[in-house]
Amino acid sequence: MLETVAKGFRAAKNRLAGKKEITPEMVDESLRDIRVSLLEADVAFDVVKKFVARVREKAVGEVVQTTVTDKAGQKHRVTAGDHFVKICHDELEALMGPVDTSIQLKPKDQVSGIMMVGLQGSGKTTTTGKLASKLLKDGRKPLLVAADIYRPAAVDQLKVLGERLKVPVYFEPNVPPPELAKRGYAAAREQKCDVVLIDTAGRLAIDEALMTELEAIKANVRPDNILLVCDAMIGQDAVRTAAEFDRRLSLDGFILTKLDGDARGGAALSIKEVTGKPIKFLGMGESMDKLEEFRPDGLASRILG
Ligand code: GDP
Repeated sequence: MLETVAKGFRAAKNRLAGKKEITPEMVDESLRDIRVSLLEADVAFDVVKKFVARVREKAVGEVVQTTVTDKAGQKHRVTAGDHFVKICHDELEALMGPVDTSIQLKPKDQVSGIMMVGLQGSGKTTTTGKLASKLLKDGRKPLLVAADIYRPAAVDQLKVLGERLKVPVYFEPNVPPPELAKRGYAAAREQKCDVVLIDTAGRLAIDEALMTELEAIKANVRPDNILLVCDAMIGQDAVRTAAEFDRRLSLDGFILTKLDGDARGGAALSIKEVTGKPIKFLGMGESMDKLEEFRPDGLASRILG
């Protein structure tokens, strides 16, 4: 994952290896490697421009410290290369952070709601199952609502997930999704469940009918969280999708899926900067336990090797 970006940073680091001082020319050469790799990884153009400008501003003309003191008070010798990498790390982290993996949940005697939205094939249904599994581990009692009523396969898929997780699934035929979502809350109360996860319909592309329906569900149940599930493999389209869903629904955050594949991963670096909303989780595989909390510092470290 993110191999393209990591390669760019490695090249930049190698240019500065062993150098005691960073000259503006060295910074520019290194930033060129990084800029190319970020664009290849499908990071949004404006985000690349800002990132490069921030690193440049910090790195150029900086008196390179020969020792730094870490959090434990230990002094370490650093080279210009190390110092440059540290600047990149901090700026990458700032781009994606701060950490916010929170899910808003009411006390257990009330029903909380999580509305899952996303394009078809993004991994929305799978991720709904993964979140239910996480909530179970956290001592919650989830109920899944199958509100993707246009694809019978989606309802069946959710029922299979529910059986596997031993979590009830609510569905009624011929009920419009906003009403179905509302009845899902009632079903949760009846079955003594405390979190409703609504798996909404997706389309191959954003369209007006989809957005209007999602707005109607939101208005009808006022969910505590609206999370967009986004396929990291679709690159810059993921950022455009994120921005449009956020404009219409005012999202609480994002879940990026398929980061276990060879996704270029640029979306992870762009979404926060473009929308101002956090990435909360990463999908790292198809099975129910493959959901990781998003840690900007962890991803920055993986990129910088
Ligand atoms: P939906 O149409 O958005 O509900 O998408 P699905 O949940 O049906 O997922 C579409 C495909 O992506 C399925 O084959 C899933 O197994 C797969 N998928 C979902 N999340 C991940 C992930 O994090 N990693 C990988 N490798 N595959 C995933």
